[in-house]
Amino acid sequence: MSNIIDTKKILVVQECIVGKKCDICGKEIPPTVIPHKYGEPVYDYYEVTTHHNDWGNDSVDSYEHFDACSPNCACELWEKYIRDSAGERNTMCIEVEHINCWTRKDTEVNVNA
Ligand SMILES: [Zn+2]
Repeated sequence: MSNIIDTKKILVVQECIVGKKCDICGKEIPPTVIPHKYGEPVYDYYEVTTHHNDWGNDSVDSYEHFDACSPNCACELWEKYIRDSAGERNTMCIEVEHINCWTRKDTEVNVNA
């Protein structure tokens, strides 16, 4: 059996990121104006990851990721995390990465485009 091939226009509807907002203050994080390669917006924000390393399998499930619009919001987030975890956890791990057009991880960015 052979396939009969033709071309058709197909409309695909899918979820896509159209903006970013701060998980702490709720403010929308505006895209940067620096030119980039793929025509997608590049955002300047702080990615905060929290987790614990206490004994037990649940340490793997304790990872949570947040987006913060500013150092102030990132500080607010980890202060709350430490306050809420104190007495419950022996370890409180926090990782903060400044995401911008230079550190963006998901796609390669060419600022000369
Ligand atoms: Zn914020």
